[in-house]
Amino acid sequence: MQEVLRDAKSLLRRENYRCTAQREVILELLARHSRRHYTAEEIHQSLRDENPQLGLSTVYRTLVVLEDVGLIRRLDVGDGVSRYEFDADDAAPHCHLICIRCGDVRDIACPVPQEMQSLIEAESFQITDYSMSFFGMCSHCTRRVRDGKIGDPGEDIHLMQ
Ligand SMILES: [Zn+2]
Ligand SMILES: [Zn+2]
Repeated sequence: MQEVLRDAKSLLRRENYRCTAQREVILELLARHSRRHYTAEEIHQSLRDENPQLGLSTVYRTLVVLEDVGLIRRLDVGDGVSRYEFDADDAAPHCHLICIRCGDVRDIACPVPQEMQSLIEAESFQITDYSMSFFGMCSHCTRRVRDGKIGDPGEDIHLMQ
């Protein structure tokens, strides 16, 4: 973890950004919970107790900087609210399973399928990164629908109006 943060800080400096205390705590939160996909509000809520001076607008501005230098990745799940995740240099690209009921986002390892790779190579295109999202229902919501605790999918899908 310390090493990850040290690399991240030196990247910020190389890109001529100062490594401010705010940038550091936000980066640390995302790096520590690298499987999570946080909204700006969630980041703010998680950090404000220990960092009362950290405002939501600073969180937004910091996320723009961290995304700009490639330390974090922004994810659009279709509800108009961006999620952010730590994007480690050595992390393999992954795909997202996005639950349209509860908004849960899960990472799955997802290599580019061979057929797709050939199609992309035919265009002489160099892939540097990719992302793919699958929309549906998580196991928890599927169970709740089956047990009649919530309606059928499609009735109150809140993420994809
Ligand atoms: Zn769900
Ligand atoms: Zn992810």
